Amino acid sequence: MLFNSLNLSKELLDAIHKKGYQKASPVQQQVIPLVLEGKDVLASAQTGTGKTAGFSLPLLQKLQNSKDKSSQIKGLILTPTRELAAQVAENIREYGCYLRFKALVIYGGVSINPQKYKLNKGVDIVVATPGRLLDHLQQQTINLDSVEMFVLDEADRMLDMGFIRDIRKIIKTLPAVRQNLLFSATFSKEIRLLANNLLNSPTVVEVTPPYSTVDKVKQLVIPVDKQRKRELLSYQIGMGNWQQILVFTRTKHMANRLTERLNEDGIIASAFHGNKSQAARTNTLKQFKLGKVRALVATDIAARGIDINALPYVINYELPYLPEDYIHRIGRTARAGQEGYAISLVCVDEIKLLKGIEKLLNYQIEQKIIAGFEIDPRIPPEPIRKNKTSIKRNKSNFKKNRNKKNYNSRRSRSKSSKSKYFRKSN
Ligand code: AMP
Repeated sequence: MLFNSLNLSKELLDAIHKKGYQKASPVQQQVIPLVLEGKDVLASAQTGTGKTAGFSLPLLQKLQNSKDKSSQIKGLILTPTRELAAQVAENIREYGCYLRFKALVIYGGVSINPQKYKLNKGVDIVVATPGRLLDHLQQQTINLDSVEMFVLDEADRMLDMGFIRDIRKIIKTLPAVRQNLLFSATFSKEIRLLANNLLNSPTVVEVTPPYSTVDKVKQLVIPVDKQRKRELLSYQIGMGNWQQILVFTRTKHMANRLTERLNEDGIIASAFHGNKSQAARTNTLKQFKLGKVRALVATDIAARGIDINALPYVINYELPYLPEDYIHRIGRTARAGQEGYAISLVCVDEIKLLKGIEKLLNYQIEQKIIAGFEIDPRIPPEPIRKNKTSIKRNKSNFKKNRNKKNYNSRRSRSKSSKSKYFRKSN
């Protein structure tokens, strides 16, 4: 479907043309008309489907149509991370480049004063993370009385990150009559509960089935011993002449360590995680986008919201604790219909995590053994220790998922039964 059948103004169509989009993506085809009609929407759309334009374009269209030209906040978008907030705001500015309006991004980790100053001068659209928005509400430096459209983006991640109470507090400050949109990659019970409270007779849009991965991602598991992962990664990067590689680790510590080692191997790498200042993260991302940094080594939370066109390689240096995070990670590649590779380097300790992911996907991921890096069956598996942050973040999910008995008996299981899960090379 072409954009010009979606009742969008010439200014928006020109901006879409400038962005180089040819056709509206499935989520855009469904969501844009609904939002223009004024409906509440519950959309299951993972990142990479074009959901941002799905809500931004009709929001801008409504702003353009509105007779009220006062600079009061009419659109509020909440995102779980700073990077995503910045990305969404950038997209809104691009889509609205031929319109007159003001959009402001509000997040923590940077001085609050410039935000107060801009809010005071008046803005039409605010894209915010919950914490800093609450700070502004408490200090009464923001007024949400005029909000007509409220968008909760990546709601599942918001809940994972423990933002539910903040979200409830923010919702309480919004006018009762408003349009609400909720986007989520997954449709858990918790999301439905939140949706029931937030949305008013919503239209449900399910673009991709829950937990399905982006079709174009080629997934591969490479079995390898833990202590040889770094060597294998450097080897693969060199042999394949891989550029723009997003590498995931479970911890900030591992992200730092791996970054150092990759740099020692002559691969320009930068760590990207929550202990880095916002300025450092923004700069790293810029260098990565420009191709000056070849490997970005990130943790799950920090990587959320990274939007890079045609990111070709996602490497799971360590599998995530939560199977859902695997889906989020590999959603970083093969965006907007491009092809991409998601390669997981898996050691014996991680077989349980791999099984969890395959259960969620409902299929087994292809495995490939790299000659010279075969696993050593004499190495016994060791339990993976979870750090405090991830335990805090995932407490509720762990409760559900963990089978303590199995977990603790990992060591006692025979070595051969462990490595048997790795299939023969194909
Ligand atoms: P999102 O799912 O909103 O994060 O968008 C993922 C990527 O797809 C972004 O880089 C967008 O610029 C791009 N995109 C969004 N809509 C389209 C479209 N209709 N055609 C091509 N690319 C698009």
